Amino acid sequence: MLDSLVKFVREQYRTNEFIPLHAPIFGGNEKRYVNETIDSTFVSSVGAFVDRFERDMEAYTGSPRAVATVNGTAALHIALVLAGVKSGDLVLTQPLTFVATCNAIAYCGADPVFIDVDKHTLGLSPVAMERWLEDSAYLDDDGICRVKGDGRVIRACLPMHTFGHPVELDLLIQVCSRWGMVLVEDAAESLGSLYKGRHTGTFGAVGTLSFNGNKTITTGGGGMILTDEALGARAKHLTTTAKKAHPYEYVHDEVGYNYRLPNLNAALGCAQLEQLDSFVAAKRVLASRYQSFLEGGPLQFVVEPQGCRSNYWLNAVICEDLKQRDELLAFSNQAGVMTRPIWKLMSHLTTYSSSLQGDLTNALWLEQRVVNLPSSVVPELQV
Ligand SMILES: *Cc1c(COP(=O)(O)O)cnc(C)c1O
Repeated sequence: MLDSLVKFVREQYRTNEFIPLHAPIFGGNEKRYVNETIDSTFVSSVGAFVDRFERDMEAYTGSPRAVATVNGTAALHIALVLAGVKSGDLVLTQPLTFVATCNAIAYCGADPVFIDVDKHTLGLSPVAMERWLEDSAYLDDDGICRVKGDGRVIRACLPMHTFGHPVELDLLIQVCSRWGMVLVEDAAESLGSLYKGRHTGTFGAVGTLSFNGNKTITTGGGGMILTDEALGARAKHLTTTAKKAHPYEYVHDEVGYNYRLPNLNAALGCAQLEQLDSFVAAKRVLASRYQSFLEGGPLQFVVEPQGCRSNYWLNAVICEDLKQRDELLAFSNQAGVMTRPIWKLMSHLTTYSSSLQGDLTNALWLEQRVVNLPSSVVPELQV
């Protein structure tokens, strides 16, 4: 079985060389646009491609405002600031995520609370969240959600659309509104994914994207904040050193951040965004091939949740147990076909091990079983 899986992957990519988990491809206007920034000398924090990338992303996602940042972690940090997360606050999130989600919470001086994930979305479970809130939280006289005991404010909820599969947003939005919580979406992995026809990252008060080298489209390094006009203006201010507009004076009216995306990177992003639909189409064909190939076998292929269109950023399988997972990882990597286990739970990292947590049955189960398979765009499958 493992032998035939490795053979299957090699047939898709038509190579006997090493096959990475996710490599970018540059088949469009990348070189032209990047060269334009060099020719213009505007390679840094000011330039036409930054504005163009933001407007193009607004058009693509339907977000009223998009603000480019130096990476996805910086976008998350500012997203939480926009959500009003302050030192001492709590933020509900999932333990099954990349560490950046939790680090952004920590940058605000806040602490994560780990809530279990759904087995089919691999993302934050609205049911588990409501259960934890009923046991452990209350609304004070001002309608602010607080944790029982020390009364710390639970300010926001930060779900992550794992490997591109959207969480159950309708239910999650209901739970957030019942409990007076701001919804912020970590959509770093889900650019191009739709929940009931609408782009992930546009449901919460704020959403964030990442354009790291391994994501669906890349700017080398980069990120984006998706939000409304008012918060977008504030995001731009905070990410550009809180500088007031002035022809020559330096006036900064609060502690700001230098989180701007350089024009050089934005040029790459504009060219990549032009190909996003074609990338997603190719990734979806690959996913359906994996699904057919694995059908009836011991590895359960993770399919998009009902009512969603996933970008299938990373294809994933659920193994029967830890032993089978370890055999898959050892065999494929030995054979030069890269596979990786899902992240260790954030609640297992020393840094976040003392954070509050609910029952994490599903997350613990998945942690031992999920493996990602090679997922780069196969050039021949682009439309
Ligand atoms: C990639 C990613 C980020 C952001 O990463 P950057 O490398 O800072 O762009 C954040 N959250 C998740 C879940 C990610 O996968």
